[in-house]
Amino acid sequence: MIPLDLSLADVPSLPVHAARLLAKEGVKTVADVVWHLPFRHEDRRHMQAMAFQAGPLPSCHHVLVTKTGNKFFGGRSGVFEAVVRHATGLLGQQLTLKWWNMPFMSRVIAEGQELIVYGVIKDSKGRLSMSHPEYEIVKGGADDDAEQIHTGRITPIYRLKGAMTQKALRVAVWHVCQALPVSFVDDLLPTPSAEGEFAGQTRALALREVHFPSSMEKLEQSRRYLALEEFYGYQLRVARRKRRVIESGGRKQIGTGELLRDFFNELPFQLTTAQQRCLDEIHRDMASGAPMNRLLHGDVGSGKTVVAFAAMLRAVESGRQAVLMAPTQILAEQHARNARKWLEPLGLRVALRTGQTRQTSPTGQTEIVIGTHALLHDAELMHNTGIVVIDEQHKFGVAQRAKLIRKGDTPDVLVMTATPIPRTLTLTIYGDLEVSTIDQKPRDGVKIVTKVRPKTKLKDAAKFLREQIEEGRQGYIVYALIDESDKLEAGAATKGYEEWSKLLAPCEVGLLHGRMSAEEKEDVMKRFRAGKLDALVATTVIEVGIDVPNATVMFIHDAGRFGLAQLHQLRGRIGRGAHMSYCVLFVDDKDEENRQRLAIMEETSDGFQIAEEDLRRRGPGDVLGHAQSGQAPLLFGELLADTRLVRLARQLAEKTLDEDPQLLRPALATFRDEPVIAEKAQAMMQ
Ligand code: ADP
Ligand code: MG
Repeated sequence: MIPLDLSLADVPSLPVHAARLLAKEGVKTVADVVWHLPFRHEDRRHMQAMAFQAGPLPSCHHVLVTKTGNKFFGGRSGVFEAVVRHATGLLGQQLTLKWWNMPFMSRVIAEGQELIVYGVIKDSKGRLSMSHPEYEIVKGGADDDAEQIHTGRITPIYRLKGAMTQKALRVAVWHVCQALPVSFVDDLLPTPSAEGEFAGQTRALALREVHFPSSMEKLEQSRRYLALEEFYGYQLRVARRKRRVIESGGRKQIGTGELLRDFFNELPFQLTTAQQRCLDEIHRDMASGAPMNRLLHGDVGSGKTVVAFAAMLRAVESGRQAVLMAPTQILAEQHARNARKWLEPLGLRVALRTGQTRQTSPTGQTEIVIGTHALLHDAELMHNTGIVVIDEQHKFGVAQRAKLIRKGDTPDVLVMTATPIPRTLTLTIYGDLEVSTIDQKPRDGVKIVTKVRPKTKLKDAAKFLREQIEEGRQGYIVYALIDESDKLEAGAATKGYEEWSKLLAPCEVGLLHGRMSAEEKEDVMKRFRAGKLDALVATTVIEVGIDVPNATVMFIHDAGRFGLAQLHQLRGRIGRGAHMSYCVLFVDDKDEENRQRLAIMEETSDGFQIAEEDLRRRGPGDVLGHAQSGQAPLLFGELLADTRLVRLARQLAEKTLDEDPQLLRPALATFRDEPVIAEKAQAMMQ
């Protein structure tokens, strides 16, 4: 029996050199080794008894060394070669093992030894060779391992630091696993169920299996168990936070109904059934004693803004203030303008606060405050806040949201997003929120026709846009360089602006990008909105929220650079009025791959379908696979693939909170990275 904090140097039979090598890189104790998890495994179980064969895949062989020698090429370069044949084979087939620039291998590998080797075999003119194979001396070596640790099994592959080697680490893990008692750590999970998938499973067994799996099935089962544990730690936090918010006690905001009545009387349209249903859910939350914590979820153009305004009016009717935060200045200004149009006639004061503008009404409490994240730095504006609304919430960090909410006095909180989220991710990203979905668009009749076209068709497109302009419509022309600086992006748009001004002359063309001053931006938007500009050349600053119903055309340059979800957001700027709308995605002439990828945009304008296709194409492993990044906070779980586990974890977490408080503390301690996970999950959706 050895304790987890035992120094590696004291683990029985662990070679001294391995312990020393690992200690240098900070892997010093038994626990350090146990938690140094492999990021993948190689199946080296099947020894190839038959011929050596060249090919792209590595293979595993039991061989006998017949000849060794160093060859030097001058200077420091050279190769150590060991000629081997099958240890059991009858054939005289030969294979040359090669170690480049490692002359000291002559002291390790010697004639007459038996090795297990694993690697890729190459064929050069009939001569077979394997460079830098993984090997194990099974007979005749100086320190021949009685067990096969590196080969002849499902072998763990670890991420290495500094001078560490796979072999030293693997040997250490092996001896630690041998020395540890069967149950060397306590379980964190409440026993999920006596039978079923996890019957008999424990944390200690699962960890062992992850290092040295006894079968592929056991490995996967253990990964799932540890993933469940991970999700459980996360859901425990989320569920606990949700309960705390409820228990913290909010205020009932019931209102008189007068402002809302006047508002709806003035509104030029009727709410859709879906909007009404969501609004009812929101008002019900607000009227209850517990603070509201709700997500209003609806595809682009589903009409979230009016619903938000109606929620804000309920707070004002109840004698409190309403605050709305948007991610960009342009969007905040658009909201402020709507608020002035719709709410000032009801006798309400509207204040706007962005990075550049600061307009506060002169005296008394402002009922409606609208702004960007600049609000976070402005304490005086917020006063007796009854509701905080966060638009396009995916554009904000978890911390920014929390900060704004804290500024209010246990306000009701409504966050809004158009990002379509698969059900499973909802539990992770929004596990502490109630969700209302606007699943219907105000004008289902209006269609957007989307086409993917090669760049060479630009002239035709210009002609088409001109025809639309002659009919009184407007258009957006989007330039963007993903991952490039604002400056380069602005440059591309500026160049595009010159080009399009010529192409469309004498129509009026405007330019909008992130490097312009607040006044310039607002001025351009004002002229575009008023119809004084026929077309707007812009960067992705127009991506979120902009609402100009008369715009019916959108051209997107280099559409291949965008994710489908972002294209969907961009396209959401058109098809907002009564007119048929058109979106053209330009790709490089021979870019077949992107033509295919973007085809889904031609087929559907359903954001949910597009998001699923996007995720499917990228593949869950690609998005957040634990193998991908050494820093990934999730070691075992794959948020997209392990749907069922996420749900199970939530159930277990609720159960623990209800009846098992002594499990709470250790489980919470294992999982400290909650915001990171939430941000990650969210990043997947963009
Ligand atoms: P999003 O959900 O993308 O934020 P908006 O709130 O900007 O959508 O609404 C899109 C457009 O639809 C706006 O011009 C808005 O005034 C209009 N709109 C919203 N609700 C309705 C409705 N029930 N009937 C007609 N038009 C509506
Ligand atoms: Mg919006």
